[in-house]
Amino acid sequence: MANRDYYDVLGVSRNASEDEIKQAFRRLARKHHPDANPGDDRAEEKFKELNEAYEVLSDANKRAQYDQFGTQGAGPGYHFGQTDFGGFGGFGDIFDMFFGGSGAGGRPGPERGPDLRSDLTIDLEDVMTGVEREIRLVRDDVCPRCHGNQAEPGTRIETCGRCHGGGQVEYIRDSLLGRVRQIETCPQCRGTGKTVSTPCRECRGRGQVRAEKRITITVPPGVEDGTRLRVPGEGGAGQRGGSPGDLMVLVHVKSHAAFRRQGQDLVIDLAIGFAQAVLGADVEVEGIGARETIHIPPGTQPSTVFRVPRLGFPRLGSPSIRGDLHVRITVQVPSQLSAKERELMRQWAELRDESVLAEDRSILRKVKDAFGR
Ligand SMILES: [Zn+2]
Ligand SMILES: [Zn+2]
Repeated sequence: MANRDYYDVLGVSRNASEDEIKQAFRRLARKHHPDANPGDDRAEEKFKELNEAYEVLSDANKRAQYDQFGTQGAGPGYHFGQTDFGGFGGFGDIFDMFFGGSGAGGRPGPERGPDLRSDLTIDLEDVMTGVEREIRLVRDDVCPRCHGNQAEPGTRIETCGRCHGGGQVEYIRDSLLGRVRQIETCPQCRGTGKTVSTPCRECRGRGQVRAEKRITITVPPGVEDGTRLRVPGEGGAGQRGGSPGDLMVLVHVKSHAAFRRQGQDLVIDLAIGFAQAVLGADVEVEGIGARETIHIPPGTQPSTVFRVPRLGFPRLGSPSIRGDLHVRITVQVPSQLSAKERELMRQWAELRDESVLAEDRSILRKVKDAFGR
């Protein structure tokens, strides 16, 4: 075992509290866990080192001894012997301790593959009808050459000589507390109970290969920004014949320049002319996948909302239930007028007894102000 300083291994100071040590270990163990770094020998080495450091520093007695005597003097009789992972019962137990596994001590059976996460961005219009999208995903798949059994096709697979096919080995270890009997996952076959004489060429005996996959995702109508879709069986491959994990797709819905969403309702701003607001009009409005004529009665005020039933978004899971379309009126005030239009507006103002700026006066005044007169 490496003799790096245990405090350095965990990245904590010599006077770190129990909690700090525990937290540092959890963080690093997650990062370097072999399951999270398949096929990475350095991560595995690092993980062993972490366990060794943690076993000593998390135990007040061992830590005191270590502080006093250093690595070499960790205590007579205290050695890691044949155990590969310090005082822990192999990767499985560590996993169970911190990641909520299926109970320690059992024979390592099939292990479900990891769930994977992916992001998918769709347009707001896609929410109306649902959409199919292809996503690219890099994941561990069962090796197509050996079908996961790790042996080059046509070569022999033998019962592991170390564990005799049981997948586990028993160790007697001397510790400060006396002799301890431990059962661990067989380090030679990693719990499979089998030995492969000629590892598969394609996966180098791993049983899995890293592969880029294209997966078609069916996004149902009515999804929202942040909806998670679970795609069963499209996660990482399982171990020892275990089922694959799931793929979790996080859906992002792009915002739209003209369309807004309020729950299941679709909201659109409709700009109409001043005369249309005053005299009324029938105006066509374009929703998502639907055109509708809005009847604007005479004297319609800005911000008036017209509601068109069932032209909103479908409800996720019950697409026959739909929201409404809300058409919100804005009134355009013209800023560029022809001489004729200006003349008509002046007549209008006169009839309505509205006081308005006199023609050109405003411009003259600005010129005078600018020249200080
Ligand atoms: Zn293979
Ligand atoms: Zn074995």
